[in-house]
Amino acid sequence: MRILITAGPTREYLDDVRFISNASSGKMGYAIAEAAVAAGHKVVLVSGPTALPVPAGCEFHAVETTGQMRDACLRLFPGCDGAIGVAAVCDYRPRERLPGKLAKTGRPVVIEFVETPDILAELGSNKEHRWVVGFALESQNARENALRKLLAKHCDAILLNHPQAIGADASRVELIDRSGSAVIAWEAGKSEIASAVIAWIDAHLAG
Ligand code: C5P
Repeated sequence: MRILITAGPTREYLDDVRFISNASSGKMGYAIAEAAVAAGHKVVLVSGPTALPVPAGCEFHAVETTGQMRDACLRLFPGCDGAIGVAAVCDYRPRERLPGKLAKTGRPVVIEFVETPDILAELGSNKEHRWVVGFALESQNARENALRKLLAKHCDAILLNHPQAIGADASRVELIDRSGSAVIAWEAGKSEIASAVIAWIDAHLAG
């Protein structure tokens, strides 16, 4: 299969030198990309900025902002069989990106934030014969929220993980399918989890 994978954080700029982002390391997304290549798939990796080396054997697209990630995904998804949204996409961006560098005024500044587009939901709505798998990082009502996201974003499965996973080498991940059941759980290193996720997709979503 040809699999589109999003990974890493996105950045949203306040001006030309300042941005908001999050603590995503990209490790889970890159581990999934490596596992997919190892399983014989073609991988199209769309990644926000990370400190990780580009996984060998991937078609790699570097992006910074959510808008750039969305544009790349909408362009590349039609040529793929499925997509896995692992990126920690910024949910909000400053309404405007100011040119240059905002000077200090000596007073508080108020910045208005607007929602970014939901890339996975857009891929899910336009998936036709393709499959879409998402991640949900939840701290409260975890399974309930994950299932709500699975349905809202038209995913075939969602991988539930927890805030402790951010930046860590290991994680605990539950896979929830469209029945709403947590069909399988893994607690292991991210590369081990990644191989298990790809094996599950091969067995349940391929073809
Ligand atoms: O809604 P939430 O951010 O928890 O959803 C997480 C899932 O949706 C992840 O798979 C993430 O990559 C994807 N997502 C996205 N675009 C957004 C927000 C989340 O693709 N703007």
